[in-house]
Amino acid sequence: MTPLLKVQDLKVHFPVYDTGFFRRQSGSVKAVDGLSFELHKGEILGLVGESGCGKSTTGRSVLHLIPPTSGSVQFKGQELDNLSRSEMRAMRKKMQIIFQDPYASLNPRMTIGDIIAEPLITHGLTQGAKATQAKVQELMQTCGLDPRFVRRYPHEFSGGQRQRIGIARALASEPELIVCDEPISALDVSIQAQILNLLKELAREKQLSYLFIAHDLSAVRHLCDRIAVMYLGRIVEIGSYDQICDTPQHPYTRALVSAVPMPDPIAERSRNRVVLTGEVPSPLSPPSGCHFHPRCPVAQEGRCATEDPELKDWGDGRQGACHFPHKGADSA
Ligand code: SF4
Repeated sequence: MTPLLKVQDLKVHFPVYDTGFFRRQSGSVKAVDGLSFELHKGEILGLVGESGCGKSTTGRSVLHLIPPTSGSVQFKGQELDNLSRSEMRAMRKKMQIIFQDPYASLNPRMTIGDIIAEPLITHGLTQGAKATQAKVQELMQTCGLDPRFVRRYPHEFSGGQRQRIGIARALASEPELIVCDEPISALDVSIQAQILNLLKELAREKQLSYLFIAHDLSAVRHLCDRIAVMYLGRIVEIGSYDQICDTPQHPYTRALVSAVPMPDPIAERSRNRVVLTGEVPSPLSPPSGCHFHPRCPVAQEGRCATEDPELKDWGDGRQGACHFPHKGADSA
């Protein structure tokens, strides 16, 4: 079956220029460095990693909001690079994004009715003002917003309500894929679960696919079917929710899993936390060999510092990039 989204060897490199008179290119920041994954209809794929690992750039690049340096992005079997401007506009309707900061992503001068109506009008999805108004109200209701507030402005809403407005706007064009770029990380903890539940419900009802970007596993735990873990512009492990959360094999995944608090106080007390030292290295000059080796708690001399591990099939449907993956049954 053709995947809804197929990404192959995606690279996004940003040139860096020196400060001299001729401003020659002195290097490049490899924000995304050879990513491949597939996403099927109705599937939720989590993309997880620390700040600066390239996950947001990946999300934007998949939608061609940031042009890829190389590689292929296919949506429903069509190569996005080959589409004309009008074909791309039609395709955009089916691929939407929800941003991290609902404050910054909503035009403060527009009423929320106009914000939600904009994609309906742009893509000609409703005929006449009355039908548009009715659709806006329906979308507001679907997303848990009171339709009586249609003439209010974004600043009159709380953070959680503003995120609901962003979701209603994304839903307006009847998308099949939504890139959720850390949609709950700017919200209060008490509100996060409500937004996650809304997204989960919408995915189930409307057969939506999400590329759900998050900086830790706790956000994606109860939402995703599969999880891809990113480190310094690359996927280091990708597998089902159970594989990644219950039997992580890559040392970086094991550290991320060990950082997730457990609801059971007894299990929480015996949680074996793997604390990583140091910061994520700069993607301008990544370490030699395995990019994770300066921080890896189980790095081995020689091979880890000199040989870059490829993303390989690890035999149980998951893929990983490590010379010495953990094969035990314990969770972390
Ligand atoms: Fe750690 Fe070596 Fe595996 Fe890299 S290849 S994650 S340094 S054990």
